Amino acid sequence: MELNGLFTIFDSIQKEKSTDMKLPFALAKRFVAAESFEETVPKIKSINENGIKVTLDLLGENVADKTTADETVEIYLNLLNNIHDAGLKSTISIKLTMMGLDINKEYCKENLFRLLDETQRLNSFVRIDMEGSDYTQGTIDIFKEAFQKYPKSVGVVIQAYLKRTKKDIDELAELGADIRLCKGAYSEPSTIAYQSMPEIREAFKEYAKILFEKTSFPRIATHDDELIEWVKTYTSENSISKDRFEFQMLYGLREDTMKEFAKNGYNARVYVPYGTMWFPYFKRRLMERKENIFFVLSTMFKK
Ligand SMILES: Cc1cc2nc3c(=O)[nH]c(=O)nc-3n(C[C@H](O)[C@H](O)[C@H](O)COP(=O)(O)OP(=O)(O)OC[C@H]3O[C@@H](n4cnc5c(N)ncnc54)[C@H](O)[C@@H]3O)c2cc1C
Repeated sequence: MELNGLFTIFDSIQKEKSTDMKLPFALAKRFVAAESFEETVPKIKSINENGIKVTLDLLGENVADKTTADETVEIYLNLLNNIHDAGLKSTISIKLTMMGLDINKEYCKENLFRLLDETQRLNSFVRIDMEGSDYTQGTIDIFKEAFQKYPKSVGVVIQAYLKRTKKDIDELAELGADIRLCKGAYSEPSTIAYQSMPEIREAFKEYAKILFEKTSFPRIATHDDELIEWVKTYTSENSISKDRFEFQMLYGLREDTMKEFAKNGYNARVYVPYGTMWFPYFKRRLMERKENIFFVLSTMFKK
């Protein structure tokens, strides 16, 4: 079956009102830790036991009304406290569209600041994920204001595939912001984003160099061996010690590599998504790599 055909079926099942028609979580469990925080805790503990930190992501995006956005902030506030009380080595990653970016920028900022007050109090950290290009400017604007007020509690993400990143990275690195560098996960047109892997990799390396030079603790988020090997060589040749940066990977991918990193003295952090609204995240992971699709199809036919 064509991939798009498969997604059309998945999409229509997911939108179906009847709970009987919901896609089974078993499909997503390769990439999503669990549907609730309680079920996610043992998985975080086991990752932490291997010397690897976590950033926890409550799945969801594009909240359209203030009631839901307010509820989401409450959930995040509880989450920060629950992580703290459980003694987990975990920060959180959030999406501004879950906190009202589609509704009103000022309102979204107020929600973020409410969350950052508590983050600061608990000595924790919030990473603002980067979403599709419609949100890049809004996210950077809000991040810059947040960073001024809460410099130790908030960081942002930069996507190497976007052509505008050349300018953004200079500005953010100059501020000394805490940046996660990734390739970018959304489908963007060639007018604004590089499409070929060699170009994206070259951009990634150029931006990583800027982060190593100008920021105190870059976060390198990739599963790509070429980039990982390049980072190891670049840092060792430029006397950048292993404790001055961090490798990040997604839950369910390359677990052995992450354990190797930790064993060899590199900082390693796994992005752990959980929650019931896993479909868009799951779809992005399938689109990225055909091996992921074969894995999911095989789970569909297993008991
Ligand atoms: C921690 C983290 C946070 C992220 N946050 C964001 C975000 O906020 N916004 C956003 O747009 N995107 C985000 N992403 C996703 C990112 O932008 C990419 O879409 C995703 O990481 C795929 O690119 P890649 O460099 O990892 O490898 P790919 O480009 O998918 O693969 C390149 C090569 O890497 C190797 N490889 C990849 N996966 C595996 C595997 N499982 N096992 C063995 N080899 C493998 C293969 O050789 C492959 O050919 C994040 C990614 C990570 C890791």
